Amino acid sequence: MARIIGIDLGTTNSGVAVMEKNGPVIVPNSLGDRLTPSVVGFSKSGEVLVGKKAKRGAVMNIGRTVFSIKRHMGTSHRVNIEGKVYTPQEISAMILQKLKQDSEDYFGEEITQAVITVPAYFTDAQRAATRDAGEIAGLTVRRIIDEPTAAAVAYGLDKQKDQKILVYDFGGGTFDVSILEYISGVFRVISIHGDTHLGGDDIDNLIVDHLVEQFKKEQNVDLTEDPIAMQRIKEAAEEAKIDLSEVNDTTILVEAVTMSDKGPLTLEASLTRAQLESMIADFVERTMKSTQEAMDDANLKPEDVDTILLVGGSTRIPLVQRRVKDLMGKNPHRDISPDEVVALGAAVQTLILSPLEGELEDTLAARYGKEAPVIIHMTPFNLGVGLQHDQMGVIIERNSTYPVEAKDIFTTTRDFQEAISFPIYEGQEPVASENTFLDLLRIEAITPAPRGVPRIEITFKLNSDRILEVKAEDLATGVQKSITIASTDTRLGEEDKARMRREAQMRAMQELRKRISDYTEAQTDELIARAEKLAKGMAEGAKSKELRQSVLNLKRKREEGELSAAQGEIEVLANLMAELEKGSPA
Ligand code: AMP
Repeated sequence: MARIIGIDLGTTNSGVAVMEKNGPVIVPNSLGDRLTPSVVGFSKSGEVLVGKKAKRGAVMNIGRTVFSIKRHMGTSHRVNIEGKVYTPQEISAMILQKLKQDSEDYFGEEITQAVITVPAYFTDAQRAATRDAGEIAGLTVRRIIDEPTAAAVAYGLDKQKDQKILVYDFGGGTFDVSILEYISGVFRVISIHGDTHLGGDDIDNLIVDHLVEQFKKEQNVDLTEDPIAMQRIKEAAEEAKIDLSEVNDTTILVEAVTMSDKGPLTLEASLTRAQLESMIADFVERTMKSTQEAMDDANLKPEDVDTILLVGGSTRIPLVQRRVKDLMGKNPHRDISPDEVVALGAAVQTLILSPLEGELEDTLAARYGKEAPVIIHMTPFNLGVGLQHDQMGVIIERNSTYPVEAKDIFTTTRDFQEAISFPIYEGQEPVASENTFLDLLRIEAITPAPRGVPRIEITFKLNSDRILEVKAEDLATGVQKSITIASTDTRLGEEDKARMRREAQMRAMQELRKRISDYTEAQTDELIARAEKLAKGMAEGAKSKELRQSVLNLKRKREEGELSAAQGEIEVLANLMAELEKGSPA
C-alpha cells in the first residue's frame, strides 16, 4: 500500500513523520536533520532554495528570501521576487515539495499522499489554501487536522479515559493554547486563545537588542546598519538561548563581526539563564494570560484539566515549563519532543486512511489501537448568507460539530425576480457585511412568480476538513447551483493550480539537473566504476553497448579538461544507470 506521510507545516520549521510497525517516526531530511526550516530563498541564478540552505543564505539573498509564509495562507498577500509574483500557496508548496522530495529520497519510493496539520484557529480559507499548496506540490492531501489534536493523538490520549487536555504551543513565530475535550472516542476543540505574533524569534530579537546595545556602549559602533552582522548575531543569540535551556550561563562570540579603523572587531558577551529569564518574563506572562483566558472561555479551573501537553521548541525553556506548572498546578507531559509531536500525531492519523499491513506490534496496538481515533471539531464561527437589509442569515452555527449539513429556505424580494445572489459569510456579526466574505452564489432561472412565492433552499455542507460546499435549489423546478467555498481571491482556480503544479514539476526537474551537475570528481569516479561493473555483468546487446559508449564518452570528455565541461555526459550516464539499476534487483 502506498505510504502516506504526516506533515507538520510550521511557521518556522516543518517536520515529516510516517507510521511504522512500532509507532510513528520522524523522517530526516536530506541533511539528516529532523526539522526543516520553513524558509524559501531565490538565489540570484534563479535557483529555489528551501530549508537550512535558504535560512543560511538569507543574508546574501536579502529581498529574495521568504520567512513565515504560513501567516499569510488564505489571504490575498503576494510575494514579489524581482517582478515574479507568488501566492502564499505556491511558496508553501515549495516547502512541501522539498519535504516530499526528501522523504522520497529517504524511502526510495514516490510519495503522493499526505496528512497535513494546521492550527486549530485556521479558517476555511486558510485550510483550503493549505490543501491547494499540497496539490501544487504534487501531494494528495488526504486529511487536514488540527495541530493540538495531532499532539494529543501522538500521546495516544484517544485510547485513554475521557479527559480534558490543554495544549500549550509556543513555537518560533506563534503562540497558541487550545483546550480539547475527549469524550467517548471523540475529540472536540472547546476553546482556543493565543498570539500569532509571539514566538522564539521575539526572544532571539531581545537578545540581539541587548548585544547590539552593549556593543555600542563598549565600541561605539552601531551594528544595526550592517545586515550581515545582524544575521550572524541573530544566529548566535538563538544558539545562546538554546544553550541556556540546559546550562546556567553561556558565552556569545561573533568573531570579526564588523570592521573598524583599527581592524576587525569581535563581539563577545556572556549571558546567564537568570538574565534571559528577566528579559523574557513579560513574554511568558503574556502566554500565561492567554492560557487563563482559554480556561475562562471553556469555563474550567486548573483542577478540571487532566492533561497538559507542551508543543513547540520554545517550551524547552525552563521558565516556560515552570510557569505552566505554577498556573495549572501539575506537571505538563513532555516526553515526546515538543517540536516533533505534531508531525508524529499526523503520522498516527494516517492509520485511518491506510491501515498498516500485517499485524501491529503489541506496543503499537496498545497505544494507538487498531483504528485511528475519531476526531470531531467545532466550527469557530457562524456560517451563513447575507440577506435583505444586510442581515446575516446563519445556516451553520458557531460551535457546531462537523462534518455537518444544514439547510434553510429563502425567497425573492421582488415580483418576478429571475435570479438571486447569496453572498456567503463567516463570522459572528449580525450585520452580514461586517463578517468575512467568502464567495457569492448566484442562482438564475427562478420560476417567475410574485415576490415571496419562490422557495429557494440553501444547503451548507461542511466536510471533515472544514471545506464548505454551498448549494442553492429552486424547489419548484429543481434547478441547482453549487460552489465549494473559500474566499474568491484566495482560493485558486483549477487552471491556476495546474499551472503552478507544472511550474513545481519544472523546479523539481531543475533540482534534479542541479543535483546531477553537482557531481564531484569522487562521485564521477564512483559512477564510472558502477557503470563498468554493471556493463561487465550484462549480456551483449543494445543496452550494454549504449552503456559502454556512454562511459567512454564521459571518460574522453573528462580527459579534455574541467569536470564541469563533462556535465552533459555525466547526466546521460547517470540517467542511463538510474534506468538500468531500477530494472535490476538490488
Ligand atoms: P518550532 O516552531 O516548534 O519549530 O520552534 C522553534 C523555536 O523553538 C525556535 O525559536 C527555536 O529557537 C526554539 N527552540 C528550539 N529548541 C529550543 C531550546 N532548547 N530552548 C529554547 N528554545 C528552543
